[in-house]
Amino acid sequence: MQTSSLSARDLDVIWHPYTQMQTAPAPIGIVRGQGALLFDEQNNAYLDATSSWWVNIHGHAHPHIAQQLAAQALQLEHCIFAGYTHPPAVNLAERLLKILPDNQRRVFYSDNGSTAIEVALKMAIQYWDNKGIRKQKILAFKNAYHGDTFGAMSVSGRSVFTRVFDDLLFDVHFIDVPTADNISQIINTIATLQPEDIAAFVFEPLLQGSGGMIMYEALAFEQLLQYCAGQQILLIADEVMTGFGRTGKNFAMEYVHTQPDMICLSKGLTGGSMALGVTTSTAAVYEAFLSNDKLKTLFHGHSFTANPLACTAALASLDLFTDPACAANRERIHEKHAAFLQELQQVTVIKNPRLLGTILAFEIVTDNADGYTNALADHLHRFFREKRIMLRPLGNTLYILPPYCITNEQLDQVYNSIRELIPTL
Ligand SMILES: *Cc1c(COP(=O)(O)O)cnc(C)c1O
Repeated sequence: MQTSSLSARDLDVIWHPYTQMQTAPAPIGIVRGQGALLFDEQNNAYLDATSSWWVNIHGHAHPHIAQQLAAQALQLEHCIFAGYTHPPAVNLAERLLKILPDNQRRVFYSDNGSTAIEVALKMAIQYWDNKGIRKQKILAFKNAYHGDTFGAMSVSGRSVFTRVFDDLLFDVHFIDVPTADNISQIINTIATLQPEDIAAFVFEPLLQGSGGMIMYEALAFEQLLQYCAGQQILLIADEVMTGFGRTGKNFAMEYVHTQPDMICLSKGLTGGSMALGVTTSTAAVYEAFLSNDKLKTLFHGHSFTANPLACTAALASLDLFTDPACAANRERIHEKHAAFLQELQQVTVIKNPRLLGTILAFEIVTDNADGYTNALADHLHRFFREKRIMLRPLGNTLYILPPYCITNEQLDQVYNSIRELIPTL
């Protein structure tokens, strides 16, 4: 029988993500979740105001997802996905294609957001190779974040996260996010980069998450997409974080008319309950791989491709997501956020408060703005940890990105904690 606490045992054996293990406070042991709350060993409640790294949408340990998962585990837990198929994979593909932009025709499964990006990049480059056209350059936004594997890191902005590996990452053309003012300049820049060599443009539509919850305009974005499409540059929409209602619409690409050639999904796909990635493609992309020549095959797969449990969790999450009650919750959160946004606009230490769908973000004005590693971030971490509100600032950017089941009272609790923070800044 173990008597010492979870966090003490953890410190002996675990290496945590994005954590300086020497200086980080001991992790809090979480043993149970319900709705927007997580509970530690002493039964203290923590309010999950950032959806456990943006994955949770319906709340923790949701009974519908749990029951479907349990039933599937007794039916079929996993099976090889080359040469074999199963109901959860087919059902999920059918249901996803019904709600995605209507040019999407094929679903390729993988394990997480980074792998969904790797798959899209490989599809894009091989698409051109299969057509006998050599195009290998990729276009991406400055400050982009597409994941932590090497291909995904390559198409992400260079930062303290990638510094050690920068020489090993492949070359990418980075452009600014578009605004009404700079869009013609961006298009001129791409024109000088030999667009005929560019295989694909990969982007987080309307919202750069890890880059600091940077929001940009749909109109200029649309012009950029149209230009790229006109230059035969494949469009890869990374909806790993924007998908499943975060930005107000089901998918952020619904804010523009141009449809992407590929879409990457993960995070909210299973309601945040299991790891699963999806890369969808148009018929044109898919058909470029059809051949009697085996060399035109997409040689990519993972041991757990289309895991039936993960697909089942995604199907259960879709049941909840497509219920009108879910959209009503998102609308309710948006309205509450909008009222708090007005209040934030009056606060002098707060800069650029902004809102998209259920995501509220702002910067804290500070002299010490050296980004992710600064002392302000430590203060914010400590402040919210003591209040048992799970907010994890990105440098001096603070944001609220809650599961859609969060109650009005819980939202007020988050807002109140920010009200109390302001005098401490
Ligand atoms: C989180 C994220 C990824 C990477 O997903 P992982 O599942 O963490 O590998 C990719 N793109 C975007 C936009 C993300 O927010």
